[in-house]
Amino acid sequence: MGYDVAGRSLAGGWVEVITDSTGLERLDREGFESSVIERRTHRRPLASTVDGRAVGAGYTDPAELERFLLQVHADHAAITRLEVIGTSIEGRPIHAMLISDNAAEDEDEPAVLFSGLHHAREVMTVEAVMDVIDRLTDLYGVDPLTTARVDAYQIWTVPAVNPDGLAWVFAEDDLWRKNLRNNDANSRITWKDGVDVNRNYVWGWGNQCQGSSSVGSSELYRGAFPLSEPETAAMVRLGRRIRPVFDVEYHSYGEDVFYSMGCDPAFSPTLSTIAGPDRAVARPIAEDYAARMDQADGGSGFDVAPFGNRVDGIGRDHQAHENGSIAFVTELNSLAEGGFQPDYAAWRDATLAGQRAAWGWLIDRIAGPAVGGNVVDAVSGLPIEADVSLDEMQLPDGRRLTSDPYHGRFHIIVVPGSYTLRVRAVGYREAVVPLVVSDVWQPLVVPLDPDGSSSLYRSSFEQPAEASLWSTGAIDDDADGGLWEWGSPNGTHTGDAVSGDLQLGAPGFDGTSGEGEHGFVTGNAPLAAIDDDDVDGGRTSLVSPGWDLGGRYAVTLSWRQWLRVGDADPADGLELELSTDDGQSWVAAESWGADADSTAALPRWVARSFVLDHAVAPGPATRLRFCAVDAGSDDVVEAAIDDVELRGFSLLDQGRVTGLRFESDTTRIVWEAVPGGSLALYEVARGDLASLATAGDRVELGGLVCLTQPEGVLQFDDEATPPPGSGWFYLTRFRLGFSDGDWGTGGAGLLRVGTCTSP
Ligand SMILES: [Zn+2]
Repeated sequence: MGYDVAGRSLAGGWVEVITDSTGLERLDREGFESSVIERRTHRRPLASTVDGRAVGAGYTDPAELERFLLQVHADHAAITRLEVIGTSIEGRPIHAMLISDNAAEDEDEPAVLFSGLHHAREVMTVEAVMDVIDRLTDLYGVDPLTTARVDAYQIWTVPAVNPDGLAWVFAEDDLWRKNLRNNDANSRITWKDGVDVNRNYVWGWGNQCQGSSSVGSSELYRGAFPLSEPETAAMVRLGRRIRPVFDVEYHSYGEDVFYSMGCDPAFSPTLSTIAGPDRAVARPIAEDYAARMDQADGGSGFDVAPFGNRVDGIGRDHQAHENGSIAFVTELNSLAEGGFQPDYAAWRDATLAGQRAAWGWLIDRIAGPAVGGNVVDAVSGLPIEADVSLDEMQLPDGRRLTSDPYHGRFHIIVVPGSYTLRVRAVGYREAVVPLVVSDVWQPLVVPLDPDGSSSLYRSSFEQPAEASLWSTGAIDDDADGGLWEWGSPNGTHTGDAVSGDLQLGAPGFDGTSGEGEHGFVTGNAPLAAIDDDDVDGGRTSLVSPGWDLGGRYAVTLSWRQWLRVGDADPADGLELELSTDDGQSWVAAESWGADADSTAALPRWVARSFVLDHAVAPGPATRLRFCAVDAGSDDVVEAAIDDVELRGFSLLDQGRVTGLRFESDTTRIVWEAVPGGSLALYEVARGDLASLATAGDRVELGGLVCLTQPEGVLQFDDEATPPPGSGWFYLTRFRLGFSDGDWGTGGAGLLRVGTCTSP
């Protein structure tokens, strides 16, 4: 309903909201029974208790938090690492602390993430994360269980995601929720300002689940575009890097646990049997986790929300979607204890003590039933970022699980049972691993066999030197705005927060998996609106360096692409073109215009691939270019490209058909598929032994009768037989797009030459 829900009791059947007289009247109209707990004429500090601070004595402000973290690190240097993962709007550091043995290293261990204070007024959540830090460091080497946890895992903590908000709560307004974005860009922060950093995440941002607002003055304002807020972006970058198995986000208040996914229309109550982590796995874990909590007043267990709180653009669902995390919102305290800021002396220790068994159990649950380990190259042993899936687990809406790029690590929490694990990566054969999962995680190593292709080029455009090999602009370009440029993308949008018609243009973040910041985008002026920094007036080209692809086939280009097309003009969009004469002439390969991806109000980075052989014969002077086009009237066209990779097979090493033989009788001829040629056509040639002749350095095959087999068919039945006294031979070769195989070489290494005719 758009109310700012302060707290709630599922068991008691009530919610506390923060609203004005209009909102109060609306509650009455809609038939809710309500009473006023506290009335204020203005937002201002409660009667301060110490040093003019709005929040009661004891709670931790940003400066005290920084001192705390520095002291912990000084006292426990070997098992802690202090990082600044981002900088708030007002320039405050957003601190993360890693707790693990050998904390200075990025060890190959499953990670878990605890965070507090997305919302400024929820000051107990800072204390909750500080308590995790205190316990793990103070008891390391003292308590065997704590020591084992710290040794086995990467335990990440972010006590205050929103340090500006925390400072504001102490200084100005103890009910402040958002960050300190100055929405109206005037000289002061008022109730109209701020973005709810827990509505600003990418996944599900601004969709129909409600629970966020496009209105800047709303307590639930989701921001102009996803990740517009540095606090949210810092958490997204951390999540991409560490891929937490469990993500625990502390909020207050309510004494509830909410699990993912709250805001996926696919997860309607009628889909309660879906075999995904969010139902079959996350819910029982949420129940076990919540049951181990003690309420601060001594009651036992927290409530578990049946379908999560249905809100959009929140961290819990983002980490679940992007990183496969089992993610929880844990709401601390109750109204009776004082809501957001319970009396510190009375409630702080009881609240935190009530959480310890629960978060400790969750850390230990990593080693419970799970499918996890490392994906590595079977030859080199190096880690591989691969798609990882279980046949028994359906993931909705384009959701993927991947191993991380640093260790090839993945960790899927499951219930015990039989599973089929599939692991796929570009350049490798798929691995299919049947598994029986018991009560204890058995770490796996999944070696992937290279498919025979080689990486011919790869760049995420992170370094200027890599990007400078590409050129922006071509001789036939005629766009007069929004030309390609390299950089850290600046998001653009149209519409405004009040009218609720916001749409994204350029991405506000790059497309690189893992840690990335840079890519190529069309028009990258900071703070530009969607229609004054997009492509206008024609075409702009991003041209690759030249590559020697001679002697290669099945050359696959893969990349990540962002495209926003505002109009259905068929000439507008993005084109991929190829050249095999070093850019003298170009061949159209593929194009994208107005489609479901590009016209969505919230476009996203999409992984694409194209096999060059289907458009050109890969040669020694091959280039490609991405052309963004706005033809005719000025419509919105915004494109971005990242993570380009080129892989191919060697004609010399792999481009020969092998295993040609008769099967069972003399009429069926079979052979092996060429590596990488899943769309290969095969030609079967029949020749007359009497016509074979050696001529210099070649073998003349004579007149051949040639039959083409459909894509992927690896056999041929010849009903004909040679006349008495004569003999036939058979050969096969493949054709993939514009690439040719050949007839191979004879016994003495002589090249076989022959021309086919149809029968
Ligand atoms: Zn909150």
